[in-house]
Amino acid sequence: MKLIDGKNIAETVKREIAAEVKTMLATNQKTPHLAAVLVGEDPASETYVAAKEHACKAVGFTSSVHKLPENTTESELLETIKFLNNDENVDGYIVQLPLPKHIDTNAIISAIDPQKDVDGFHPENVGRMVMDLPCFVPATPAGIVTLLERSNIETEGKNCVVVGRSNIVGTPVSILLSRNSKKANCTVTLCHSRTKNLNEICASADILIVAIGKPEFITADMVKDGAVVIDVGIHRIADNSEKGYRILGDVKFDEVAPKSSFITPVPGGVGPMTIAALLQNTFRAAKMRY
Ligand code: NDP
Repeated sequence: MKLIDGKNIAETVKREIAAEVKTMLATNQKTPHLAAVLVGEDPASETYVAAKEHACKAVGFTSSVHKLPENTTESELLETIKFLNNDENVDGYIVQLPLPKHIDTNAIISAIDPQKDVDGFHPENVGRMVMDLPCFVPATPAGIVTLLERSNIETEGKNCVVVGRSNIVGTPVSILLSRNSKKANCTVTLCHSRTKNLNEICASADILIVAIGKPEFITADMVKDGAVVIDVGIHRIADNSEKGYRILGDVKFDEVAPKSSFITPVPGGVGPMTIAALLQNTFRAAKMRY
């Protein structure tokens, strides 16, 4: 079994971006700027946004956070979106999800300028991704493809099973890996909560990608010997340790790892690469503008 060291791969990608930023600045171009919109005080969202700001600094981008209270109305949030769409200083921005329940998430995503939509959630970017046209690809699926590629994992002709069909992870990664391209060409099965015989389908996977949001859901009996296992899930579980919690994925790592050929740890697998992929998108947005 080999660990897919997402932290290390993400650091390499970030070093590459930092070097390109230096070149960009040496030719008098503007510093790339990523903005984030954070509505409410969800601790997980605050942690993710802080991590994104930290990563921006590390590669030489500037960043800003627009913090809005939980009771922000949809039209007030749309005003912020309009402001960011028109702000010349902002190359790309994200609206941290989930949004409070009284706000229509699709209405907000659809209002983002597709050229600044570095999360790749706008319908125009989703459509372009499906058509294999240049676009912003959502960060987690893009990061998974990079992890496979940089770990020299052959995808062509492989049986890939994706568990979870969300718009931000499962569905886009299933599209990316079924593409007619050297880094894809998988035969993909996309599973969800209504899938019958999930255990058998998972056990047929050469590459198993799990994004269901249920701690340690995938057990050893659901995994073929020698499979590549990508665990997207991330859960903070309270325990008696010094920290008071431990982080688990959607895969029961201890029993699945010995059966797999490659596996991502949690933490340190998909998470860091997601942030690196967001930086790649932001850098691309900045290059497109200058
Ligand atoms: P969602 O809750 O949006 O989607 C979960 C998916 O899993 C749904 O499609 C659901 O099916 C499916 N599902 C739920 N239960 C089962 C089951 N028993 N059997 C089969 N399928 C099931 O989750 P996300 O995609 O947003 O996130 C998944 C996990 O990944 C979470 O733990 C999240 O925190 C993590 N995550 C991590 C990221 C990272 O950077 N590491 C980034 C994004 C997410 P149905 O559609 O039928 O309801």
